[in-house]
Amino acid sequence: MKKLTVDVVLKELKKLYPKAKCTLDFEDPLQLLVATILAAQCTDARVNVVTKTLFVKYRVPQDYLNVPPEELENDIRSCGTFHVKARAIQETCATIITDFNGEVPRTMEGMLTLRGVGRKTAAVVLATAFGVIEGIPIDTHNIRLLNRMGLVASKNQHRIELEMMDATPHKDWPILSHLMVAHGRAVCSAFNRNCAGCPLKEDCPSSLVYKRNDLSKLLS
Ligand code: SF4
Repeated sequence: MKKLTVDVVLKELKKLYPKAKCTLDFEDPLQLLVATILAAQCTDARVNVVTKTLFVKYRVPQDYLNVPPEELENDIRSCGTFHVKARAIQETCATIITDFNGEVPRTMEGMLTLRGVGRKTAAVVLATAFGVIEGIPIDTHNIRLLNRMGLVASKNQHRIELEMMDATPHKDWPILSHLMVAHGRAVCSAFNRNCAGCPLKEDCPSSLVYKRNDLSKLLS
């Protein structure tokens, strides 16, 4: 068994998921920013249902400020934690208007001044909406899979991002996260691992297939 490397993981998972990308629906940077805020502790599929009508009603930052908080909360209720998310969206839009001339900022530094926007959200929006690569979005799928694959040994989001930024070619920073999400959903979920159908099974330290083969070797 060899140690898995980022290069091998990228090569195998790119073959497996050639269309891996952001699964939130959006038409402009503001829509992607709002959708990404709504996606915290919610599925992208649910967010896409909500934003289908939300983005018809709210088109520019000022639209989100023209309604009372309760109205926006009601419009996003099914995404969960709607009180916190509505406040984050309204405060974010206020900052975009006052500090960024009504445009979503194009730098990590600018993005991190927006309420409710952490490095994960900022990295997703910058890379997907502007092609600006300034970080690796690390979510729960990433944390679980990167640890299972032995590429990191930490649950700390910030530490994992720094380690993966060191180990991953810059151009692959955005796709790494999408590949992890795709693999986590299709093959290596939190409660079910289809190691037999996984192209990384020979070298993954968490492979159940490897463990079974290893056991039979020991018993023979
Ligand atoms: S071999 Fe198993 S544990 Fe390792 S990445 Fe594949 S499915 Fe997940």
